[in-house]
Amino acid sequence: MTKIILTGDRPTGHLHVGHFVGSLQERVLLQNSGKFDEIYFMIADAQALTDNAENPEKVRQNVLQVALDYLAVGIDPQKATIFIQSLIPELFELSTYYMDLVTVARVQRNPTVKAEIQQKNFEASVPLGFFCYPVSQAADITAFHATHVPVGEDQKPMLEQCREIVHKFNSVYGETLTEPDIVLPSNKACLRLPGLDGKAKMSKSLGNCIYLSDDADTIKKKVMSMFTDPTHIQVSDPGHVEGNPVFTYLDAFSKPEHFAAFLPDYANLDELKAHYQRGGLGDMKIKRFLNEVLQSVLGPIRERREYWEARKPEVVDILKEGTARAEAKAAQTLSEVRAAMKINYFENDNLLK
Ligand code: ATP
Ligand code: MG
Repeated sequence: MTKIILTGDRPTGHLHVGHFVGSLQERVLLQNSGKFDEIYFMIADAQALTDNAENPEKVRQNVLQVALDYLAVGIDPQKATIFIQSLIPELFELSTYYMDLVTVARVQRNPTVKAEIQQKNFEASVPLGFFCYPVSQAADITAFHATHVPVGEDQKPMLEQCREIVHKFNSVYGETLTEPDIVLPSNKACLRLPGLDGKAKMSKSLGNCIYLSDDADTIKKKVMSMFTDPTHIQVSDPGHVEGNPVFTYLDAFSKPEHFAAFLPDYANLDELKAHYQRGGLGDMKIKRFLNEVLQSVLGPIRERREYWEARKPEVVDILKEGTARAEAKAAQTLSEVRAAMKINYFENDNLLK
């Protein structure tokens, strides 16, 4: 079976460490595994506009920033196609046909849509385009016949809804679309990285992020001011590691070699956690360690980002070539869809008889 990856990011800001552990790092591993026939990474500008209609400049300016973040984490344009969503008109035609296969009530029940409507304070004024984004996401995935979609846990309901659309389409029009599987990070702490403020999700829209492009000083300041366990007041107090984002970040990022290099008093994270829970371990010491860990992971990413920042015209060429390749693929799928729906009237003499 052909194995195809599709996933993407909204250009609503620079990418952050939540994206890194939730999706980017997995993508790079899959990309380099040599097990995939085609790989597509989409900069979802049209989707970003659904809840940023009054902020088109923000979306436009972040297209190149997301591309830079991709290249910085090791996405390789020789192995993967990076493209811009709004330049692929086929995606929007597919969305139109899929909208007929989904009820309003079904989208209303989508837990991610519900949560985001609340988070964005849309309540009674949800933009229609935003409301429909699970359907357009199904178009993005199926246009490439994606079999594997590496995303964070918040995207699970989107994948479920996509699979329903695939079933419905195939049962009405015959086997045409490919059912995708979600690829979640195996490390639990990476499924949904919390924000610096301890909120459930690090998110560009919530401003609680460490960005891949942050400089070393900014990272340190952010780590040092992170929310921890509010009941852990004196160093001698026993502390909580659950719901304490400093420990969640260590779960997501730290490796035994980081202990050897930066905190040799402890062999691993379990020992550090046990000491914190017993009491006698101050937050500052753990934050200093987390800072060292993050600096060692993010330093090389920042260097690669600087390399590409100095070569922006090349990055634009990468996007241009990728977008052309992606459009050819989406056009092929759209013609399969039109043929299955028997609306390719002028290609088949029998259809208008
Ligand atoms: P926005 O606030 O504009 O929606 P976002 O920070 O949620 O931005 P997206 O572009 O919507 O970012 O998400 C891109 C990818 O990163 C998705 O696969 C999503 O699941 C994943 N992701 C986003 N935030 C996190 C997080 N905090 N932890 C793990 N994965 C995440
Ligand atoms: Mg999001």
